[in-house]
Amino acid sequence: MGEDLEQMSADAHLSRGLGRSYGDASLPPGDQPDVLNTTFADRILAFDGETGVIRAESGLSLNELNRLLMPRGYFTPVSPGTKFVTMGGMVAADVHGKNQHKDGNFGDHVLSLKMRVADGRIVECSADRHRDLFAATIGGMGLTGHILEVEFGLRRIPSAWIWQESRRIHDIDEFQDALESAAPEWPYTMGWIDCLARGDDMGRGILMTGRWADRNEAPPKPPKQRFQPKLRFDWPSWVLNGMTIRLFNELYYRKQWRAVSSGLISHESFYYPLDAIRSWNRMYGRRGFTQYQCVLPREAGRSSARRVLEVLTARGGASFLCVIKDFGREGRGVLSFPRPGITLALDIAIRDDTQALVDALNEQVLREGGRIYLAKDSFTRREHFESMEGSRLHEFRAVRDRWDPQRRFRSAQSVRLLGD
Ligand SMILES: Cc1cc2nc3c(=O)[nH]c(=O)nc-3n(C[C@H](O)[C@H](O)[C@H](O)COP(=O)(O)OP(=O)(O)OC[C@H]3O[C@@H](n4cnc5c(N)ncnc54)[C@H](O)[C@@H]3O)c2cc1C
Repeated sequence: MGEDLEQMSADAHLSRGLGRSYGDASLPPGDQPDVLNTTFADRILAFDGETGVIRAESGLSLNELNRLLMPRGYFTPVSPGTKFVTMGGMVAADVHGKNQHKDGNFGDHVLSLKMRVADGRIVECSADRHRDLFAATIGGMGLTGHILEVEFGLRRIPSAWIWQESRRIHDIDEFQDALESAAPEWPYTMGWIDCLARGDDMGRGILMTGRWADRNEAPPKPPKQRFQPKLRFDWPSWVLNGMTIRLFNELYYRKQWRAVSSGLISHESFYYPLDAIRSWNRMYGRRGFTQYQCVLPREAGRSSARRVLEVLTARGGASFLCVIKDFGREGRGVLSFPRPGITLALDIAIRDDTQALVDALNEQVLREGGRIYLAKDSFTRREHFESMEGSRLHEFRAVRDRWDPQRRFRSAQSVRLLGD
């Protein structure tokens, strides 16, 4: 824990932000149990109201950034589906949002990083200075050093409201067509899938598209902060079972009873629906859940998403949160997750056979030529990861060999996947 990151990072082996990565990326390895909590170092160090360029300590949260700068008409160029993340975590995972098809990842908007590297030096890196370190740090899951400060460009927004359109979708093929045709028109797109539906209905769901509302269509006042209830106990494990998830999915799908509906909603409801209930993860009971997110490249063809969903449904992997989104381009980081294609993100309650399910999903993703998102992963085997990443992993290792040959920076995830 520490406010003075320069000082606190001198001996630390891994940084951790708000811990919103789903797996073990921000957990230390067993033999090196200390991590540096960055969240007390959350100052904005510089802000240029003309250009929108901001420099902040890496522990600044997106929640705080929004609170301070949205009233001045600025928003982050890329936002994940929760505001409880830090700037350091956003760089280290190279997060993507609903606008990936248009604006890429968060790392695409980063101008420079101040870092503490393995030999103890503090260095500034960017596309021009220590370019290799910069590229490996974006999406590098904290394994190249501590990010102390982040400089990036904010976007101007006309209001704090979103004009959203929701559309009922009948199957996975229609979903991919709908995402593709929405992409040129809408800056924000994503879909919810009923992943228990089989046969002709497989992949049915709701497509959500959005854009910032103009001043003349938005209410004069920003949306009110809503009360956020908190789940105070773990739900018993039987509450979420195949039957209740099927019922939830049916009701949620039917909720979109019109073919298309539209209207204004607050940016929080649009971007951060899960933030509305604090500790929502307790719904999964004491054993918890994992999230599995993969990207299937465009070259794998239209039916690749159907094949992955078939693996899930055949093994009874019930998930009531299944998200689909199209990606427009590769990230800038050596290990950035996105690439042009379709991404599926599935919440999966932990059961005795979860490892076997993730193995089967990974084998299918490998056949499709895809890869998984490290920020969500806790079950992937090293051999699967190495096969997915191939030459990119080779390049990442080469940068680590130059900057951290002794492997000072390690995480539970890097021990599992990279053999650190
Ligand atoms: C509800 C929910 C929705 C989400 N939606 C999305 C989404 O739409 N898109 C998306 O891309 N992600 C999404 N995520 C994942 C989340 O955005 C990432 O995992 C993000 O990295 C979390 O940030 P954090 O500050 O909590 O980082 P942590 O979880 O604490 O850490 C994540 C990684 O970053 C490293 N790290 C953190 N801070 C630093 C630092 N200062 N220096 C070096 N390394 C550091 C850690 O070592 C770790 O490897 C979602 C997560 C949740 C819970």
